[in-house]
Amino acid sequence: MAQTKYIFVTGGVSSSLGKGIIAASLAKLLQARGYRTTIQKLDPYINVDPGTLNPYEHGECFVTEDGAETDLDLGHYERFLNVNTSQANNVTTGRIYQSVIEKERRGEFLGKTVQVVPHITNEIKERIQILGKSGDYDIVLTEIGGTVGDIESLPYIEAVRQLKWDLGEHNSLVIHLTLIPYLSAAKELKTKPTQHSVKTLMESGINADILVCRTEHELSDDLRRKLAQFCNVKQEAVIQSIDASTIYDVPNLMLEEGLDTITLKKLDLADDTQPDLTQWNQFIQRHKNPTAEITIGLIGKYVELQDSYKSILESFIHAGAENEVKVNIKSIHSEFLDVDHKNSIISSLDGILVAPGFGERGIEGKIEAVRYARENNLPFFGICLGMQMAVIEYSRNVLNLKDANSTEMDDTTKNPVIDIMESQKNITQMGGTMRLGAWDCELKAGTLIEKVYGKAKISERHRHRYEYNNEYKEQLEAAGLVSSGINPQTGLVEVVELKDHPWFIGVQYHPEYKSTVATPHPLFIDFVKAAKIFSEKRK
Ligand code: GLN
Repeated sequence: MAQTKYIFVTGGVSSSLGKGIIAASLAKLLQARGYRTTIQKLDPYINVDPGTLNPYEHGECFVTEDGAETDLDLGHYERFLNVNTSQANNVTTGRIYQSVIEKERRGEFLGKTVQVVPHITNEIKERIQILGKSGDYDIVLTEIGGTVGDIESLPYIEAVRQLKWDLGEHNSLVIHLTLIPYLSAAKELKTKPTQHSVKTLMESGINADILVCRTEHELSDDLRRKLAQFCNVKQEAVIQSIDASTIYDVPNLMLEEGLDTITLKKLDLADDTQPDLTQWNQFIQRHKNPTAEITIGLIGKYVELQDSYKSILESFIHAGAENEVKVNIKSIHSEFLDVDHKNSIISSLDGILVAPGFGERGIEGKIEAVRYARENNLPFFGICLGMQMAVIEYSRNVLNLKDANSTEMDDTTKNPVIDIMESQKNITQMGGTMRLGAWDCELKAGTLIEKVYGKAKISERHRHRYEYNNEYKEQLEAAGLVSSGINPQTGLVEVVELKDHPWFIGVQYHPEYKSTVATPHPLFIDFVKAAKIFSEKRK
């Protein structure tokens, strides 16, 4: 396809309407018709990237192969499309300004006054087109964070307005996602907020081509007609997005509504194919018809918020479907897992996952959880900080190094079994400075992890500053904590496991970033399988 087509997704009325899921679902449908698609997220906040954001603020930070710390929507894009994203797929206002200011300092603007229009908007337009110009994609979807009318969003909306002209007719379109609230007292769906939000968009010079209406109740023909009339779109371009029981239903719902057909029509692209969703639908079938049920304890410190461990939760959905098992996740705040309470809290579980994290809060509870799993043959899966906790637990309770710790939690410990990397010691700048992105790892022959992956060489994504301290490797191995995955370039230990335990694995990397619907992650699949065996025995 010669000309890359661009689809812009804006939002109105309310945040959290699921722009990312709509974008991912449409991209899935277009991909399933043979178009090479990718999705990009523009975030209007001033942080350079979400790496420095507290998960309470913005949910999980998703890490790409090239080591970009990005918005969690990129996780959805990868899980839906099974195509890797990169730094180019997530742009923030902070990054835009940083780049423009750097250009100004280098004298690139030749003495001109640097302004939001055209300098900031040009930078945005350039970033939007980077993926399209790579030649790798037929269609680029760009999701604009926030809602129209926000002060922060204005330069983005203006950039889209200009780009629509630059790209020419039929080469771009705007999808506006809004909410149609239901007033239970009046027993009515209300269109007024949508009318206002479309009007706000028009004040910025943009006409929405397609309206996607998030709703709890079916939209009647009358209501669709009314929306079309007041919002300047054809009735066929009013798409209902009704609440779904799972996000993975949304592509099929959009297919029923004809979102892909109308998109192709407006972009002047052939729609003589049918989307091939065979594999996708097989996954949904398995996901919705489990033959068994297990409960996994997710031990972390951001348990109130679903979004903080998004990729882990989704990985369990993929792995559950693969095993035809319903995986119930019980979020457990590690601060409540002290010696006295751990047994009563953990004894009803079929497996525990100790989550990634930063800082000291709640770590003693995590260590107690590891201990329980180790001593009771309960399947244990430690990710990043979770793996580090496993090393500390083993050092304290098996090697008898009572003060063993990570220097992240106690920098005066005499037994720093987890220590800061040499290369991290002098870093003062936060953001983008951890060990990030894809790193190779070699798996030891005959170990559980090698069996799980079915191969000896893997590559996984990282996001951390601290590491297994190799000075303790000999002692730990001799006592039974096997280092079963090693980074071939640095010699760093990436995986630990226990010999005499049914399933006990800690990984320094984040496998959850690579689990997709098409390729569920082998570690999650095997962990769920082990938990299922445990649950059968328990019964
Ligand atoms: N805080 C730990 C480190 O920096 C673990 C990070 C994580 O779990 N992602 O090494």
